[in-house]
Amino acid sequence: MRYSALSLAWNALTGHRRWTPAWRDAAPRAAYDVVIVGGGGHGLATAYYLAKEHGITSVAVLEKSWLGSGNAGRNTTIIRSNYLLPGNIPFYELSMKLWEGLEQELNYNVMVSQRGVLNLHHSDVQRDAFARRGNAMRLNGVDAELLDRDDVRALVPYLDFDNARFPIHGGLLQRRGGTARHDAVVWGYARAADMRGVDIVQGCEVTGIRVSSSGVTGVETTRGAIRAGKVALAVAGHSSRVAAMAGLRLPIESHVMQAFVSEGIKPLIDHVVTFGAGHFYISQSDKGGLVFGGDIDGYNSYAQRGNLPTVEDVCEGGMALMPMIGRLRVLRSWGGVVDMSMDGSPIIDRTPVEGLYLNTGWCYGGFKATPASGWCLAHLIARDEPHAAAGAYQRQVHLGTSNRKAALESYTC
Ligand SMILES: Cc1cc2nc3c(=O)[nH]c(=O)nc-3n(C[C@H](O)[C@H](O)[C@H](O)COP(=O)(O)OP(=O)(O)OC[C@H]3O[C@@H](n4cnc5c(N)ncnc54)[C@H](O)[C@@H]3O)c2cc1C
Repeated sequence: MRYSALSLAWNALTGHRRWTPAWRDAAPRAAYDVVIVGGGGHGLATAYYLAKEHGITSVAVLEKSWLGSGNAGRNTTIIRSNYLLPGNIPFYELSMKLWEGLEQELNYNVMVSQRGVLNLHHSDVQRDAFARRGNAMRLNGVDAELLDRDDVRALVPYLDFDNARFPIHGGLLQRRGGTARHDAVVWGYARAADMRGVDIVQGCEVTGIRVSSSGVTGVETTRGAIRAGKVALAVAGHSSRVAAMAGLRLPIESHVMQAFVSEGIKPLIDHVVTFGAGHFYISQSDKGGLVFGGDIDGYNSYAQRGNLPTVEDVCEGGMALMPMIGRLRVLRSWGGVVDMSMDGSPIIDRTPVEGLYLNTGWCYGGFKATPASGWCLAHLIARDEPHAAAGAYQRQVHLGTSNRKAALESYTC
């Protein structure tokens, strides 16, 4: 069923009894050409582009829980392409361009809101670093504006400009950056992949990876064994555990990252704003809640909840930037298990096991990458060669070494 103004009107007139489920509740078949492990944004986007761009429709996405139960449904929804290094810029800009057409592509309202992402700077050194980043972006055709203190004050007058411990000197603005509704992204890709014949199997945990001398042959799951010509892992914070089923040791650590939402208030924050003197970033949801977060918890964990010292640290950052936030009550907080790579850059690569592919290392910034990650992983699976935009994300996993051109340049989300 395609969504349109006409179908909305028709269903309204007929009592909303004719809507069909957004995707089938598929039972796993005995064999597929491609099995994707992980029903987050990256796994579902990969399945969609495999079917749409490469005509490979014998595909299953296996999700141990419900779709979007991982980081895809837990992030703070920021999308942007304001990167510095040559390995990163083409990839994240590809993602931004895919975001810009995603609603039409998927026939689904994923609520892309290009409200602008503003990174604040608080020192001359930081301003120079931002100028360099902005110049690199503009040289590569990405929009960037370096703002001085007065520009920032005009844009976001509610910040503390007069009495702050870390005075605001200016900022780097990417107007095309912004937010998208995270679980709608999952649902949109799931529905569009399902419409092209992909089986989406929820409640199906992969418990083993079958490998013969010639490569991967399938997976074992809580719903039986499934044969597969190719298997791709897109399990974010669970990457190390699932890759270990095939004998691989990944350069990835799993950490908790928390996010918070306040009670709803009238529209106040029009942009995404990040604090440059600590780990804190904030935006406002359409429901009115202030959505904010900061640093990861400082220890390895697989629990989807965090601890109080990080809550305190994030709230301190918020108070330093906009003290009036202290009058708001936090409504909810939650945690997600993020796949931290040692240099902050992701991996989209083959593995030493023939037919086994890996998508991991997104740290706290993989939501914005969702469309390009799916696009490039689908390309790699279908053609067995890396997509040009993700060429820097190849890594020789078995040796634990890196031949990538991208390196550490991540900051909050
Ligand atoms: C609090 C928080 C805030 C964030 N904010 C941002 C942000 O603002 N912007 C941004 O760009 N990024 C952000 N991120 C990062 C982003 O959410 C992730 O990098 C991205 O969602 C990871 O890809 P994914 O969606 O495929 O992962 P996930 O949604 O985690 O998908 C992985 C799936 O694999 C499943 N799985 C695991 N093991 C198995 C198994 N054995 N068998 C079957 N299924 C399995 C899991 O259940 C899960 O559903 C944030 C993350 C967190 C936690």
